[in-house]
Amino acid sequence: MTAPTVRRALSVVAVAALTLPLAACSALSSSSDSSDTSAPADAEGALSVAVSFYPIQYLTEAIGGDYVSVTSVTPTNTEPHDYELSPKDVTALSSSQLVAYVQGFQPSLDDAISQVSGPTVLDLASSIDLVHHEDSEEHEDGEETDGATAEATDEGHDHGADSAEALDPHFWLDPVRMKSAATAIEEALATADPNHASSYKNNLDTLDASLDDLDTSYSQSLGSCERTTFVTSHSAFGYLADRYGLTQASISGIEPEAEPSLAEIADIKEVVQSTGTTTIFTEELVSPETAETIANETGATTAVLNPIESQPESSDYAEAMRTNLGELRTALSCK
Ligand SMILES: [Zn+2]
Repeated sequence: MTAPTVRRALSVVAVAALTLPLAACSALSSSSDSSDTSAPADAEGALSVAVSFYPIQYLTEAIGGDYVSVTSVTPTNTEPHDYELSPKDVTALSSSQLVAYVQGFQPSLDDAISQVSGPTVLDLASSIDLVHHEDSEEHEDGEETDGATAEATDEGHDHGADSAEALDPHFWLDPVRMKSAATAIEEALATADPNHASSYKNNLDTLDASLDDLDTSYSQSLGSCERTTFVTSHSAFGYLADRYGLTQASISGIEPEAEPSLAEIADIKEVVQSTGTTTIFTEELVSPETAETIANETGATTAVLNPIESQPESSDYAEAMRTNLGELRTALSCK
């Protein structure tokens, strides 16, 4: 393995990890996931799968059941977008048999995966219909004052090389795209561990039914609302909005840590006022300061809409999706 010019330190760590004694590897990987009580000990032959962050962990655990030992690269309660992998993370990655992630979501993980040669790599981006969603910079056009044309203002103009081809990674907030990811994970598990393929298939069927239920609930519960525009902290809900006929206006863009400009904040306030928006959504892992300021200045209130990028405190993906649905129904005054 030759080290590319960038990320030299990471590459060296990856090489070192491959030569560590096996005991050290499993100690490191198991210590990074204290929440997993369903999987047997790694030594008992479970397929070791490293996943990039919580929604993929949820799917892999649901499908893999007892035959898979899942480790999330991104720790719980950590914003995954700009998470920088530690040497320990790269070690866990190197010693796993399968890695499941979505390319283009976490640059640090993308770099690590390009340099790790041990595990089979499943890039879910190639199995899910991902599209480009505008980010909030395009609100400067000032054309979406009624909120309904926010999607239409994206005419393919981009703002530089970095974001030119960026696909929106937030597929998990759309239960239908979540099913596509589940199918890809089931296929990868069955290929890696054909002895338990029928179990994986059964678990997938159960999971699909649960995701279908979510999809039906969202369709039925958001079909008759006073408003269709909702204001979020960062634009994690584009696929959800597309699926259920809503429009998302976000304070930050695709990246939660992006600092909105004064012009962007003014645009959001205009959207809030022109659409009669009463709720500005915040999220737990991002500072609510800007959202609270906008709420104060427009007479709106704040509420939490969970982008489910980290494991919820005392629930799971499906429950968090249902909580989000209730929050959206309240914010949009749905019947
Ligand atoms: Zn996000």
